[in-house]
Amino acid sequence: MRPEILYPFFAETVSLPGVGGRIAQLLDKVVGNRVLDLFWHFPVDVIDRRNSPQLSEVRHEQMVTVEVEIGAHDAPPPRTRRPYRIWCHDGTAQMQLIFFHAKGDYLRRQLPEGEKRLISGKVEIFNGQLQMSHPDYIVAPDKRDEIPVIEPVYPLTAGISGRVMGRIVRAALERAVELPEWMDAALKQREGWPGWHEALRALHYPETAADLDPSRKAHRRLAYDEFLANQLALALIRREAKKKKGRALTTEGPLVGKLIETLPYELTGSQKECIAEINGDLASPSAMMRLLQGDVGSGKTVVALASMLAAVQSGAQAALLAPTEILARQHYDSLREMAVALDIRIEVLTGRDKGKARTALLADLAAGEIDILVGTHALFQKDVIYHDLALAVIDEQHRFGVEQRMALAAKGKPGQGMDILAMTATPIPRTLTLTAYGDMDVSRLTEKPPGRQPVDTRTISHNRLDEVVRSLHRALEGGARIYWICPLVEESEKSDLAAAEDRFRQLDQIFPGRVGLVHGKMKGPEKDKVMAAFAAGDLDVLVATTVIEVGVNVPEATVMVIEHAERFGLAQLHQLRGRVGRGSGKSVCLLLYGNLASEAARARMKIMRETEDGFLIAEEDLRLRGAGELLGTRQSGMPDFRVASLEFHSDLIPVARDDARLILEKDPDLKTERGEALRVLLYLMEQDEGIRYLRSG
Ligand code: ADP
Ligand code: MG
Repeated sequence: MRPEILYPFFAETVSLPGVGGRIAQLLDKVVGNRVLDLFWHFPVDVIDRRNSPQLSEVRHEQMVTVEVEIGAHDAPPPRTRRPYRIWCHDGTAQMQLIFFHAKGDYLRRQLPEGEKRLISGKVEIFNGQLQMSHPDYIVAPDKRDEIPVIEPVYPLTAGISGRVMGRIVRAALERAVELPEWMDAALKQREGWPGWHEALRALHYPETAADLDPSRKAHRRLAYDEFLANQLALALIRREAKKKKGRALTTEGPLVGKLIETLPYELTGSQKECIAEINGDLASPSAMMRLLQGDVGSGKTVVALASMLAAVQSGAQAALLAPTEILARQHYDSLREMAVALDIRIEVLTGRDKGKARTALLADLAAGEIDILVGTHALFQKDVIYHDLALAVIDEQHRFGVEQRMALAAKGKPGQGMDILAMTATPIPRTLTLTAYGDMDVSRLTEKPPGRQPVDTRTISHNRLDEVVRSLHRALEGGARIYWICPLVEESEKSDLAAAEDRFRQLDQIFPGRVGLVHGKMKGPEKDKVMAAFAAGDLDVLVATTVIEVGVNVPEATVMVIEHAERFGLAQLHQLRGRVGRGSGKSVCLLLYGNLASEAARARMKIMRETEDGFLIAEEDLRLRGAGELLGTRQSGMPDFRVASLEFHSDLIPVARDDARLILEKDPDLKTERGEALRVLLYLMEQDEGIRYLRSG
C-alpha cells in the first residue's frame, strides 16, 4: 500500500489550482498527469529580473525590469497585420511596447496613458528604437512583489507558456511535504546533502544559473535517491528470484558433450568460462538470473545452445525468445545447423504461424515432443503451453519489457522457478550494468572467435559520395556484399524512409537488380524475403533504415556504409559495424559524415577508427554522450532516470548499490524506522516491481 503521506503526490494534475482539463492534457504529453511528475520537471535556465537600468543604457536583448510612464497608444487600423504599439518612457529614453493580435480595450485598461508601470521583459533595439514585445510582467509600481526576482525557466510544452508552467510547478511544489529521511545519516553528513524537500526546492528555485549545475549538492542528493531506489528494487527482485526453487539441471550429460565434439571449431576461452558460469547456476537448485553480455559476433549463440541442451538432457524444454521475426528465424537456422548431429527437435514459432500448422506445433509442444522452441512474442501467448519448460533464453533482452519476460517465465511448471538467461549484444559500461541489470548475475564474452580480421574503418565526407559509389563498383566486382545504412532523419520515420527509398532508387540505377531495401514499415514476410535474398547472394547491396533490420548474420557481407554517421551514438555505430567482419573476408566500414561541427561527433569518429572493443566503446559512449544530440540512445536499454544523469552522477551508482545491499542485510523487511522511510522512497520513485516483493510493513 502506498504510504498516505504520498497521496497528494499521486493526485492528478487537474487537481492543482490553475490546471484545467486542456492544460492537464498538454502536461500529460510531456510531463505526466500526476503532481509528482511535475516535481521532476526541472528548470533548464533562470531569468534574472534584477537588472533595472535606465532606458538610455539598455543593450539589445537585455532582460530588464524598468519603471516607465505610459505614453500614447498607436492602435492598428482594423483588419491589418500591424501590431498594437504603446509608447512609454522613463525620462532618459523612449520605448515601444509591442503587442500582436492584441485587444485594444484590454491594453487601455492595463496600460492607461499617463500612468506609471513596472515592466519586465526582454528589450530589443530595432533601427535604433527600443522595443519590448509582449512584456513578461506589467504591474503597478506598488506591486513590485508580483515580479519574481529570479525566475526559473522550464522546458516548454507547446500550448503552455513559460510563466504558466512555472506557476503550475510551484503549485505542485506546495504539495511536496518533507518526507521521513531514508538517507544513511553518515553518508548524508559526509556529502553535506540537504534533506529531500530542501533539495527539491533548491532545484526549482535556483538563485543563479550556477545553481542549475548538476554537480550541486541538492541535485546529487536527489540523483542518489533515485539510484538508491533503483538498486534497492533490483536487490529485492534478485532476492525474490533467488528464493524461488529452481531445479538442478544436468550439465554433464550426453548432449552438451556431443555438441562440443561436433562443433567445427574450438570454443574460445571466454565461451568456456561463460558456459561454466551458467552451468554453475543451472546445476544449482535455485533459479538462474544471468545476463550474457557479448559483442556482436562474440559467439553467444553456441553458449545459449549449450545451456538449452542442459535443459533438454535433463528431460525438460528450453525456449529462445528473439525480438524480431528475422532474428528468430536466423537463430532457428543456426541452432538447427549446430545441432544436426544431436537427436533433438527444434522448432520455430512466430506471429506469422497460424492455423493448422500452429495448432499441430502447439500440440507437440504440450506433449513434450519439441525440445527447443525458438520464436518471438508468440512464445508466451496464452494458448502456448509447454510440457516442461525449464530454461528461457532471451536474446536482446532490453528489447523486452519486464512484463514480457515475466510472461515467459510464467510458462514453467507451477510452483517451480525458471532459469533465465538473458543476452545482450550491447556492451554496457560496468557502472551502468548495475542500474540496468543489478538484479542479475553477469557473464561477459570478452574474447572474439579467432580468425577475424579487423574491420578497416574510415571516415569520409558526404561530399565524396560519388567516390564512395565508385569504390563500391570495385568491391562488388570482387564479390563483396554491402550494407548501406541510411540516415535517421530527425527521428521521423517517414523521412528516414524517404531517404532510404531515394538512396535505394539511386543505387538501383547504378547496380540494376542487385539492390534491396528493408525498412520498418515493411511486413515481416516481405522483409524476410529481401533479407534472405541478400543472405543468399541474389542481392549484393542492402539499403536499410535502422539498426533493427540488420540484426542478422551474413558472413559474406564485407562492406558497411553508414550515412550521417555523426548523428549516431558510439554504441549504435559499433552495433552496425558489427554486421561486417563476420566471415573470413577483409571488411570495410565507411562512416559518411555530413557535419562534424560538434567536438563529441569528431571524438566518436576517432574512437570508431581506433578500436573495435565493444566494452571500451561503451565506456567512451557514456563519457561522450551529449544531451539530446544523438539518435537512438534510448535503444541502449538503459532505465530512464528522471533526476539522475548518467553523465554527471554515475559515480554514485556503486555507492547506492552497496548501500542497498547493506540495508537488506540489516533490515530485510524494511521494518526499522529507516526501513519505513525507504519504503516511502520506493513508492515515490515508483519502483513497484521491487515493492511487490516486500512483505507489507
Ligand atoms: P553473437 O550472437 O554473439 O553475435 P554468434 O553466436 O552469431 O555471435 O557467432 C558469430 C559467428 O561466430 C558464428 O558464425 C559462429 O558460428 C562463429 N563462432 C562462434 N564461436 C566460435 C568459435 N569459438 N570459433 C570460431 N567461430 C565461432
Ligand atoms: Mg546473436
